[in-house]
Amino acid sequence: MKQSIVKCPGCGLMLPNQYFAEPPRFRASGECMELFNQLSYYTIAHGQPEFIHQLALDSYGAQHSGGTARPITTAFSLIGLYLVVEHGFTGKQVQQAHMQLARAKTDWPVLSPPKGDAVMTIQDVLRAEAGEPRDTKIRQWVHAAWSSWAHAHDWVKEAARPVLEP
Ligand SMILES: [Zn+2]
Repeated sequence: MKQSIVKCPGCGLMLPNQYFAEPPRFRASGECMELFNQLSYYTIAHGQPEFIHQLALDSYGAQHSGGTARPITTAFSLIGLYLVVEHGFTGKQVQQAHMQLARAKTDWPVLSPPKGDAVMTIQDVLRAEAGEPRDTKIRQWVHAAWSSWAHAHDWVKEAARPVLEP
């Protein structure tokens, strides 16, 4: 019997169908979410003190927006990517920025995700060797995910302003 393929509604990744349920938190196939779980074992165990897990989480969140994903998840993902790409924040600093923003604001707009499939996906990250090669890929993934959201950049910069003010 031919193996069926499932396409992730967020990033477009085509993976063998394992009949996993779609996750509630992201607009993703269960098969793609399984890859994120695998990557999380790596990023949480490793990558301290800069907390590289935050970079992976925000890249994944940005690429799996819309549908059942909550507006705050998308907004925080994009703000995190912006702070890393344009202000050199570490994952740890992004985490602190999210906490600051969560205290100040409760209402987040629905941002429309980019059309088309992602040019770089979590699979590219997992294929890189653990350690420096994979960490470099995570940083490239941050840039790719941020670039794909050009239509929302102005909103993100404005929303992130409170954490950049002294
Ligand atoms: Zn995906």
